[in-house]
Amino acid sequence: MKNQDSIETVRDMVIGCMQCGTCSGSCINAFAMDLTPRHLWRLVLMGDKKAIFNSKTFALCSACYYCTLRCPQGLPLTEAMAALKRIATSENEAVYKSSAKFNQAFINNVRKNGRIQEMEFMTAYFWSSRNPVLPFQFAPMGTRLLFKRKVGFKKPPTAGSPPRLEALFRKVEELENR
Ligand code: SF4
Ligand code: SF4
Repeated sequence: MKNQDSIETVRDMVIGCMQCGTCSGSCINAFAMDLTPRHLWRLVLMGDKKAIFNSKTFALCSACYYCTLRCPQGLPLTEAMAALKRIATSENEAVYKSSAKFNQAFINNVRKNGRIQEMEFMTAYFWSSRNPVLPFQFAPMGTRLLFKRKVGFKKPPTAGSPPRLEALFRKVEELENR
């Protein structure tokens, strides 16, 4: 976590929010979020830490910068989402921890295979969560995806992580460790 990260510094980042909802309307991941980005910024302005870290909204931000580009107030929204992730990591917030394990299993799988291997990825995620109930929670969605042939048990061909992808991962690690 950067030394200056706190709910107060995130509030300073979004202090100019006028609750227009453009960020929510622009967010590519809003459909999967439990709170819209606009709602999240409202909670940040109110300093409602419990509600903020009970939400998965910031964990689902994929840093596409679309909201940042479109916010009429020019607020650094993607940076604010990243700061919330860092705070949640350093404070070991339970809801985020579960999302972070999902993200880590996803990244490890892409890094290893050069693409996502769904079954291997989900097995690694279930294993890392150490929660025996978790596979059953995902079972309905998994069954739907199997029927739609979006996932399968057969391992797709892979040539391992291409050198350019590996270079990208290393650069991100370097930037994150600064
Ligand atoms: S687009 Fe900007 S001003 Fe509008 S709700 Fe989102 S953060 Fe607030
Ligand atoms: S940067 Fe994050 S919150 Fe903003 S539009 Fe992209 S995914 Fe949504």
